[in-house]
This record gives sequence, C-alpha cells and structure tokens, in this order.
Amino acid sequence: MPEGDTVWRTAHHLHEALAGQVLTRTDFRVPAFATYDLRGLSVDEVVSRGKHLLIRAGDSSIHTHLKMEGAWHIYILDERWRRPTFEARVVLENAEHQAVGFSLGVMEVLDYDGEDDAVGHLGPDLLGPDWDAVKALCRLNRDPARPIFLALHDQRNLAGFGNEYVNELCFLSGILPTRPVGEIPDLARVLDRGRRMILANRDRVQRTMTGDTRPGRMHWVFSRRGRPCRRCGTAIRSGQLGAKPTQMRITSWCPRCQS
Ligand SMILES: [Zn+2]
Repeated sequence: MPEGDTVWRTAHHLHEALAGQVLTRTDFRVPAFATYDLRGLSVDEVVSRGKHLLIRAGDSSIHTHLKMEGAWHIYILDERWRRPTFEARVVLENAEHQAVGFSLGVMEVLDYDGEDDAVGHLGPDLLGPDWDAVKALCRLNRDPARPIFLALHDQRNLAGFGNEYVNELCFLSGILPTRPVGEIPDLARVLDRGRRMILANRDRVQRTMTGDTRPGRMHWVFSRRGRPCRRCGTAIRSGQLGAKPTQMRITSWCPRCQS
C-alpha cells in the first residue's frame, strides 16, 4: 500500500509534467464525473496532503487517492501505457505529456471549497510545508488508551504513515504495537524518528527502513513473520489490530526487542 512518501513523489512528478501548462484533453472515467471537461484550463499546481493528491486547475481540484492498487503514470504523448486501459480512471493531457491515473481508490473533481471536505479532516502532514509536531502530539494524546499502532495509522492524528512505517517505527522505538499512547514515555521522540524515516525515503525510488536497499533487507519486522529479528534473532510475530473488522491491519513485532 502506498505510503505518504510515494504520494509526495507522485505529486512532485505530476507537478513537473503538468504545472503551468494548459490541459488539451481530459478524460474522467468514473461515472459521476464522466461529463466533466477541464480542457483549456491551466494546471496551477499538484500537491500531496498525506496520502491524498490534489491537482489544482482554475477553480477545480482533481482529488485522488491511490488506496491499495492505484498509481499515476506519466507518458510522452502517444507512448504505450504500461497498465491495461480498463484500469484507467482519469487521463490528463497537455502539449507534451499524458498523465494517467490507474485503479485509483478515489477520483473526484471538486471546486476549491470542496477540498476542505476531502482533506480538511487530516492531521498535520508529515511531508507538508506546514508540519506541526506539537499539533500532531496533541491529537495523538486525545485518546491515551488507544494502541500506538492504531493511533499512528489514523490520518486524523497525522497524515502520511501507512502500515510499513507504523510497524517499523514501533520496532525502532522499542515499543509494542499494542502499547497505549498514554504509556509511551517519549512520544515526541517517536514522532521525530518517524518523520526522519519518511523524509529519508522521500526522494528514494526504493523505500528502505534499514538503510539497506537490497531485496529482502529493507525491513526490520514488516512482512517478516517467523523470520529472525535482525537484532536479537527471536522469531518475528504478527497479528491483526483494528477497531472494526474492516479496518484490521497486520502488525509485526519482535517480542524481545519491543515492550
Ligand atoms: Zn529482537
């Protein structure tokens, strides 16, 4: 699942391909927006807010979310697509490029005011220019009994972390995913470490939590169930955590290094 760093990089690439240029063709392949046509508008900017992406043009804002399988590709005009046509949800074209959003979890065209409904609930953005650690800490502390794993996932507390970051951050901080927020002695330090991790990966093509980009060596605990902990050799455990069955997420931890 894409994390905030992937979305930040996607916004950066889309901005380079689209900003300052006039849209020569738009094709929204989602029924509710199929009749929309933004041709003739100039794209002002492309920004990320947590894991949400906003393409702003005139009074409109194209709001997308990658969710599980989504991706944006940028092609030179007439270049062959690398994903099947039926997966395309939106096509934006200018004189040089074609940006295609495939299998997007969300694709909607909003007016500027509508942006607030779409992303206004989000907590401070880990990769945003307005990152505010104090505000994020306040939001995390509003529910001190909540397991840290779930609190860090909640985009209303802070925006940008997904499952990889949350699991790896709990390991690197030596805390069990189930530990209540209120029982973590130095939450500010945990948050600071997490932000440094996502910043370090922001410009990397291959995300790594260990600093090693070789296959199979990029994680401490994420997706490593049953394998030996890289620090102590104990078998990594995994389970599920979530408030509702639909929100269950897989968590992995080392029973010796984390408490
Ligand atoms: Zn260990």
